[in-house]
Amino acid sequence: MTVLATKRLPGPAWDELAEVEIGRPDRLRDDVEAWIVVGERVSDAELDLLPRLRLVANYGVGYDRVDVDACRARGVAVTNTPGILDAATADLAFALLLAVRRRVVAGDRAIRAGEWSYGWSDVPTLTGDVSGATLGIVGLGRIGSALARRAAGFDMRILYASRTTVDDRYERRELDDLLRESDIVSLHVPLSAATAGLIDARRLALLRDGATLVNTARGDVVDEAALVRELVSGRIEAGLDVFAHEPAVPAELLDLPNVVLTPHVGSATTATRAAMTGVVVENVLALQRGEPLVTPVP
Ligand code: NAP
Repeated sequence: MTVLATKRLPGPAWDELAEVEIGRPDRLRDDVEAWIVVGERVSDAELDLLPRLRLVANYGVGYDRVDVDACRARGVAVTNTPGILDAATADLAFALLLAVRRRVVAGDRAIRAGEWSYGWSDVPTLTGDVSGATLGIVGLGRIGSALARRAAGFDMRILYASRTTVDDRYERRELDDLLRESDIVSLHVPLSAATAGLIDARRLALLRDGATLVNTARGDVVDEAALVRELVSGRIEAGLDVFAHEPAVPAELLDLPNVVLTPHVGSATTATRAAMTGVVVENVLALQRGEPLVTPVP
């Protein structure tokens, strides 16, 4: 069975695949039955080039760039890597939360620029608290729940917005109310037609003055232009791991002290990425053996 992969994936599990061709479907290929993608777009145009394809195995839990309906219509299964990256991604969200809220990066930059001339009690800008603050989690799924567990350790009050999920440990709110009530808001919804632009200019305006927005979900969940305007005004602050047009980041953000930026590294620990490779490989091997796929997307 010919397996195509856009990249070689890290970790020992990769070697369990007997033969993998690294590349993209740039011409008609009637031999490829499985295609491993790392966030690349999979739409009708790509599928047309792979008429015998049976599986798209996405390296990552978010499969918003895969046209699942187009795959289904052709009998192509889609798998992702849910669960095993929850801890790493929640850790990164919490790291951004702490870094923004306590101005860790701005402080680091000030020292390196030789700008620490004041005494310890004369800090020019005091910051908001983390411990005891109110955290609003948008999307209390696997990663959102992992963030909530971390936040509980910081004695935070936890609100959440979801369509169906109910968790009695935390306080459920309508999204607009959550945005009004939270000191810190963290986004954990998948990108879909329903969530694209979910946090638009009107909703950004509901955030409290000095509120912190953390986005480790997908850039397009937020109206990026409206977010840039709010951040440039200095009214709110943000920790951003994801952007609308990665790897492009709005130039206006680059010099702002109220923003911490990371290059889409939520799941990027050695062990997590190796485990993700393991799940991709298990799915391809299951296809080869005619067994049920391990993590088909719902
Ligand atoms: P998940 O378990 O499916 O959780 C998503 C949650 O969002 C669900 O609980 C769902 O609950 C809720 N939701 C969906 N639509 C909603 C809406 N319109 N309003 C409010 N809540 C909504 O997904 P996950 O594994 O936690 O992953 C979440 C996303 O994180 C992924 O899709 C991916 O895009 C992103 N991610 C990013 C990185 C990174 O490197 N930065 C790493 C991993 C994942 P209801 O159905 O009850 O609403």
